[in-house]
Amino acid sequence: MLGSNRQQGTARRWAAALAGCTLLAVLAAAAQAGPPVRLHIVFTNDIHGHVAPEGAVFMNPNFPPQLGGGASAKTYVDKLRAQIAGDPDAGLLLVDAGDVWQGAPVGTLTQGQVMEAYFNTMEYDAIVPGNHEFDKGEAVVKRLAANLTRKFVCANIFKAGTDSLVDWAEPYRVVERAGLRVGIVGANTPGTEHMAFAENIKGLEFRPILPVVEKWRDYLLQVEKVDLVVLVMHDGLPFDAKREWDRLQQRERAGEDLRQDVRGAMDLAHVLEGVPVIVGGHTHRGYREPWIDPVTQAMVLETFGNGSSLGHVIVEVDRPTKQVVGWEAPRRDGVLVTLFQDEWWPDEDMRGQLRPYIENAEKGLNVKVGSSRVELSRRGGSNGPMGNLVTVAMQAQTGADMAFTNLGGLRADLAAGTITAGDLLRVMPFDNALAVVEMKGTMVRQIFERKSGRGSAGIAQSGAKVLVDPDAPEGERVRELLIGTEPVHPDSTYKVCTTDYLLEGNSGLGFLAEIDPDQVYYTQTIDRVALMHYLEKNSPVAPRTDDRWRERKNAPVAPYLRDWPHPAAHPAAHAQP
Ligand SMILES: [Zn+2]
Repeated sequence: MLGSNRQQGTARRWAAALAGCTLLAVLAAAAQAGPPVRLHIVFTNDIHGHVAPEGAVFMNPNFPPQLGGGASAKTYVDKLRAQIAGDPDAGLLLVDAGDVWQGAPVGTLTQGQVMEAYFNTMEYDAIVPGNHEFDKGEAVVKRLAANLTRKFVCANIFKAGTDSLVDWAEPYRVVERAGLRVGIVGANTPGTEHMAFAENIKGLEFRPILPVVEKWRDYLLQVEKVDLVVLVMHDGLPFDAKREWDRLQQRERAGEDLRQDVRGAMDLAHVLEGVPVIVGGHTHRGYREPWIDPVTQAMVLETFGNGSSLGHVIVEVDRPTKQVVGWEAPRRDGVLVTLFQDEWWPDEDMRGQLRPYIENAEKGLNVKVGSSRVELSRRGGSNGPMGNLVTVAMQAQTGADMAFTNLGGLRADLAAGTITAGDLLRVMPFDNALAVVEMKGTMVRQIFERKSGRGSAGIAQSGAKVLVDPDAPEGERVRELLIGTEPVHPDSTYKVCTTDYLLEGNSGLGFLAEIDPDQVYYTQTIDRVALMHYLEKNSPVAPRTDDRWRERKNAPVAPYLRDWPHPAAHPAAHAQP
């Protein structure tokens, strides 16, 4: 048994989908054929090299609970394997949906070698490459593929201008579990073409997922005679399921052909028939319950990534009809199992496999990346040396008109002197990626209105000069606001750099989650990496408190800020998972 909650696990039946006599037929057949096959699908996505033990700073930045990393994942899977061993009606499928190595120091510094050890020791059935696999060019992907026990599974990366798939991936893999033949198809986001540097994906083409998966689904069912097709892909679920579902329905009502413009896993699940289980990734949007399309009944799964949890769902397959008839979560809290070290005590063998890489990476953390003439302190709030340095670096990395981040994301002060890679990790442990948004002046002003109140968790910024009255009500706080040297204009468009974290609506900025995705460019550069680049080029740095952020009670409102259209009312905070 996996934990004490196992008995209380939730079971769901798709009775609605099996209406009338179909349901009766299935139940009658099931009664004759015995219990359904219980296919345990254990899944990861966006591990980003996080296989070393680490503190869960996203849960509690000051006293993070300890996560066990890959060695705890091994303990969990070993227990599950032992639990179902000898049960003829149970099987395990272990899959990863990509972005495996780039991110955590041990992943990045070993260019993914640590992940070869992790995947091979875990004995994954299928691993799909993500866009970040190409961060150091195709050579690293080839090396990974060569050293993994099995090739990557990916059906939509072609040699440019041909219909030949790359040599280092196979389009599908068939495994047999509990007497069922399961075909696993893999795919990477076609967006890789925009997210990777051109020279790193030279000679490769990333084609749309839907037609490729449909082709291999048919082949698997008709030629390979599989009983079940599972898709594992590096593309995922939206941040806000309800909003995206409303949008999808609007598009349908407007007569749009969704098949021609599939945007992520929700769209795909809606138009793809005959693939009842989809494991997604890329968006780092964990769902504690699977997203199930009301029409196709396809189930989509995804974890929050960064190795903090394992996904685990039990899919029930009726043996005579090969239909998926239900699903169950292993625990009461859903299909995501957080890898707390205390609960899943790290496996010794895996620990030994990972240790040499982790020790090497720790040495790498002592490498000097730059220096500062002054203490990099967070004192001074929205005008402190640390926040000013970080946002200047964000602006330099992206060339944006303005950059901002939440002060709560800066976790440490640094003394004057040498700065190491490990220091940067203490300051910014979250792996937030930079994004550039095309934003109207009204929204820029709204950000300052929201984040300048007395006692509000503030922002640091670079590129704007602002004067606020923090005691005024929201909507009346901003008294002067220049972008660069020009007064902000409500209808002008500005390029604003911030983090994917804030664009999800966190930190009280719920209205940022409403931005049309077409106005956002995700750079895929981690904020910490942008700071490292800046320090490498500009050390010694000496950021100071300056005139970018001033506060004065009852300061007069600048003429250019009067008579603006009132910004639309927005909810104060976005619902958080
Ligand atoms: Zn990705």
